[in-house]
Amino acid sequence: MPTPISSTPSINPDKSVKIPLDFLDYAKKPEIKDWMVGIRRNLHEIPELGFLEFETSKLIRTELDQMGIPYKYPVAVTGIVGFVGTGRPPFVAIRADMDALAIEEAVEWEHKSKVPGKMHACGHDAHVAMLLGAAKMLQERREDLQGTVVLIFQPAEEGGGGAKKMLDAGALNNVQAIFGLHVSSEYPIGAVATRAGPITAASGFFEVVINGKGGHAALPQHTVDPILAASNVIVSLQHLVSREADPLDSQVVTIAKVQGGGAFNVIPDSVTIGGTFRAFSKESFSQLKQRIEDVVTRQASVQRCNASVTFNTNENPCYPVTINNEVLHEYFGKAAGDMLGVQNIFEMKLLMGAEDFSFFAEAIPGYFYYLGFKNETQGQFERGHSPYYTFNEDALPYGAALHASLATRYLLENPLKHTSPEANYHDEPKRSPHDEF
Ligand SMILES: [Zn+2]
Ligand SMILES: [Zn+2]
Repeated sequence: MPTPISSTPSINPDKSVKIPLDFLDYAKKPEIKDWMVGIRRNLHEIPELGFLEFETSKLIRTELDQMGIPYKYPVAVTGIVGFVGTGRPPFVAIRADMDALAIEEAVEWEHKSKVPGKMHACGHDAHVAMLLGAAKMLQERREDLQGTVVLIFQPAEEGGGGAKKMLDAGALNNVQAIFGLHVSSEYPIGAVATRAGPITAASGFFEVVINGKGGHAALPQHTVDPILAASNVIVSLQHLVSREADPLDSQVVTIAKVQGGGAFNVIPDSVTIGGTFRAFSKESFSQLKQRIEDVVTRQASVQRCNASVTFNTNENPCYPVTINNEVLHEYFGKAAGDMLGVQNIFEMKLLMGAEDFSFFAEAIPGYFYYLGFKNETQGQFERGHSPYYTFNEDALPYGAALHASLATRYLLENPLKHTSPEANYHDEPKRSPHDEF
């Protein structure tokens, strides 16, 4: 086992400034970094989709067993909740998502995906490796923890709402605050990007079936043409953002799917279209949802068609806006600044993408940030969700050290202690004591 980073038996608040650098030095040691690289590469070879992360989950549990870290399993099918520290309050959580994407990997390398049609193209393999790295470092220094760090390994971030299911299963009971990160090729290695308040959008999906009456394409008078109706629906939906939304309140409506007809000379019976909508407030989001339904049904009726709209289901829930707690933003600035230097904390623009960490941050004060891994000397890195996605493993120590120091210092400094509920974006969460583990 690696030697502890410091011989001091306990940390006092004056030393908290040193914690981030100590953890970073530790995480960069070859025995820790290479071990994380190994985990990430193992996971990269066995990508699994949401709620099917059985092998991934097994690998994580094997590592936790080896470290002597107790955990609950299964939580939300494949999820794991681990505990490091005193076993008593306060509880603070750090989180990683475990799922991969239905993409065929196009990168030729030694650790290419061994599963046809599946790939870790969003970096969740790295997220798991970094959280395990943090777990290892925290466990080494568990005597220094003034409370308990809760390790959240969640399934199904990519659309399945795994975070919501973890929450429903009580994963955050009695937890005061939660931190999460996502790797990003937009920002340089050794830097983070973040912002206070909203950071990623609320996201919903919809599917529309427009029913008409099919027939001969040369005799349109005997048909009710759903293709024409669908065309008008698509155009009308574009007016929701351009004409009804406040131009200063960012929103998106995209039709990403159109299916209908199969021949040059046949008008089909029905057309299916589908897409996504995004907004940064609950009000704008529900307004958009309502208006999508109105526009679809009324516009289709202009062409004598019937239309039905289905929105998200329990299997694929809408994701709320991810909102970073203001007090935790200040706290993060200090902890990350002490590790990386304030010049390496970038102010992020709002992101129209969605992240199911939002469910956690809606329930308790939460904080989400992006961890850079761009390094121009190593060439261009593709963005997430590309079959050419690659990840710079030099970022692993930064993520692990950030997780570990954010949690350790949180327990030491209790940054939310003077917070009134109004200072958060959320009402005080309803808490019940965490079960004994
Ligand atoms: Zn993704
Ligand atoms: Zn992701």
